[in-house]
Order: sequence, then C-alpha cells, then structure tokens
Amino acid sequence: MTKQSREDVHTSVACTRCGCVCDDLRVTVRDNLIHDFSPGCELAAPWFQSFGQLPLSAAAEIRSTPTNTEVAVQHTAELLTRARSPLFFGLSRSSTDGQRAVCELADELGATIDTTASLGHGPSIMAFQAAGECTSTLGEVRHRSDLVIYWGSDPVTSHPRHLERIVNAAGLAVPRGRSGRRLIVVDSARTATAETADQFIRIDRGKDFEVLWALRLLIQGKDLQEPLIGGVPVEVLKGLCEQMKASHYGALFFGVQLAEGATGHASVEALLRMGTELNAFTRFVVRRMRVPGDVTGADSVLCWQTGYPFSVSLSRGYPRYNPGEYSAESMLARGEADCLVLVGGERVSRFSAKAQQRLAEIPVILLDPAGVDWPFAVDVRFNTAVYGIHRRATAYRMDEVPIPLRQILKSDLPSDDEILRAVLRIVQKTPRR
Ligand code: SF4
Repeated sequence: MTKQSREDVHTSVACTRCGCVCDDLRVTVRDNLIHDFSPGCELAAPWFQSFGQLPLSAAAEIRSTPTNTEVAVQHTAELLTRARSPLFFGLSRSSTDGQRAVCELADELGATIDTTASLGHGPSIMAFQAAGECTSTLGEVRHRSDLVIYWGSDPVTSHPRHLERIVNAAGLAVPRGRSGRRLIVVDSARTATAETADQFIRIDRGKDFEVLWALRLLIQGKDLQEPLIGGVPVEVLKGLCEQMKASHYGALFFGVQLAEGATGHASVEALLRMGTELNAFTRFVVRRMRVPGDVTGADSVLCWQTGYPFSVSLSRGYPRYNPGEYSAESMLARGEADCLVLVGGERVSRFSAKAQQRLAEIPVILLDPAGVDWPFAVDVRFNTAVYGIHRRATAYRMDEVPIPLRQILKSDLPSDDEILRAVLRIVQKTPRR
C-alpha cells in the first residue's frame, strides 16, 4: 500500500525576508515541506527553500554537543545570572513576541539591548528624533502618488516586489499604475532600478548632504551660484525641485546607504526637512527602505517597551538611551559586555575586528533557526522555529504596519520567545548579588 502525500495550499501568507513583508503569497505545502510559492521573488525563493525544509537538528547544543532544551535553558540562565553586564543583540530575525521577551528578560537582568538597526538605519532614527518625519503607509503611496523617487536605494535587487506592489500597481487616484506615475532614481551609480526609471540623476558618492541642502535652498526659492553641486548640474536639480513641487503626491524612499558614514544622520535630517518643506506646495512623504525582515518591529517593540528604539541600557533599573555608549559594537569593542545573547546572528559579521575578538572571550548564546551557518564558537546554541513558517506571529512592515504571520509547517523546535521566557522563569527564581 503506498502512502498518499498530503498537500495544503495556504493563501495570504506573509514573507519576512525583506522589509516589504509582502502578505499576498500563495504557498503549497506537501508532506510538511514547502513545495512551491507564488508570485515569484528572487529573494524569497532561497529563504523559503532553506527554512521550508529544516534539517533534522537537536533543539539545542552546548559547546557543539547536542542536548535537550531544558538543559540548555538552565545553562543559559546560569551564564546570564553570573554576568555583570549582559548584552542582547539582533532581534530583526525575531518577531513581536520574541522582542517583548528580550525586553522582559533584559529588564530582569539589568542588561543592555541593541538591535541590528545600530549597524544600519540607526543614524536615520536619530535624524527622525531631531527633525520628525512626514510619513504614510505603503498603501497610501500606491493609491495616491504620481511621483516616486528612490534615493540611494535599488529595490529591484534589495526589495524585488516593491515596484510591483507600490509603483507599478494601479491605485485609486492612479488607475493607470506605472504609466500614471513618474519614477526618478537618485544614486551614485546606475542601478537596475535606474534602468526602469523615467529619470536617473547621478550624484558623486558621499555628496548627498550637499545635494540635499542645495535642493532645500531651491525649494525655498533661493538661487545657487555654483554650476555643479555633488556632481549634478544645478539645472538638473532645479528640474527635480520643480517636479517635486508640481506633483500631486510625492513619495521618496531612501536606502541605508544615505545613513552611512560619519555624517549619515545629517544627510537623513536634510532629506527629512526637505520632505517637510515640500508640504508647503504638495503632499510629500519620506520613507526608509528597511532590508532585514522585522527590524522595524524591533524598533517598534523596544519603543513601546522601553521608550527608545535601540541601544538601550537597563542596568540602573530604568531605560537609558545612548547610541555609541550602549551600542553592541562599542560595548564589545570596549570589553564592557561580559555575556552576549544573540537573538538572530545576522549582521554580527559587520562588527569591527575588535568587537568580534571579544566574542571569543565571553560566553555567547545564539538563538537562530536551524541550518543557519554561524562562523564563531558559541557556548549555547538554540535551533529555533521560524516565525511565519513554523509559528504564528506578527512582523512590522517597513511603514510600521504590523502584519500577521501564519504557521504553514509543523515543527517541534521552540521559538526564541519560548526559550527566552523559560530562561526568565529561572532567572526570576535565582538569588543574585
Ligand atoms: S519583496 Fe521581500 S517580502 Fe516581498 S516576497 Fe520578496 S523577499 Fe519577500
């Protein structure tokens, strides 16, 4: 007798591979494995392939030796209660439940929490705090915008369905979709997105600040004496300025590249202030392109749990925020953190050599999906279930809209939320100095 294979088709499935968190996927599951999904996306395909067929792994390992979850949880609680300056880092591969659990455990321990934003859009967040932002949902941009600008962002490669869902799609006020909108790309190199745009404006690398300030002056009706700013002829900047002012609804999406470098926060602040000033002429919004899955959720959960989005110390029993002082990179490089919990190991390769060296000197606990390669030795590794594949959860899209995630596969592996709460229960019962 042959065994019948079982096939289920799940609709309206959300993908957390990038900040678009597209929630219109149709996923076919056969015998508890992801067999197919549509619509196609080059970035989502390897993600579903790797997490849709998890290798058989122990739920936990202590110094590379498989063990059961209870033993690893107990060992983790002992390492954390012995530490004087524990540090939690990552959170963007997690979801709302896991991020809340990090806040509760860190609060109990008096630890520091930092997210992957501090190695990415952290300067943009600091710019928002200084200048505010004119914002919107992606749905509003789709339905109303007749001008879309990508600045330092190449969504065709980084967010493959952003154009399909926002720019090319028909909207209530833009029934012709792409042909009813003007698309402009501003970047230091001609990108794949620039090839599809109506206009490409090349600026010299690292000259965003100068170009943005020139645009602000032009918007205010001032004249410029220089013929060329940041490698762009002033006549081209005047043309861009007129197009922004004449649009019925303009939307500018900027990439993390704008926030990089020592003056990244100042460039983003100039961009935000320009967006606000354009609202004297038209409706104009400015949005970030967030890359890894739920980094927006990490900002949001930390904000409503501690009051601050990243680099938060709870060591005095109340939250203190200071990027630099409480950033994971600096705390590791200065040798201040003496136990590290990585809630998702992504972006650790971006730490400086000095910070990475510290990983070999202190206990490191890693919570990451099974099958994710990890280049450093760790004391404890938990192989976790993946939110949106093995667990129901919530993730925040790049426009801060929370999207429900569905469970489409069964898995015995624990989620990071379940592990962290089990550790918390032991820590709460452990007397400390
Ligand atoms: S664009 Fe991003 S969120 Fe959407 S399907 Fe592709 S990888 Fe997933």
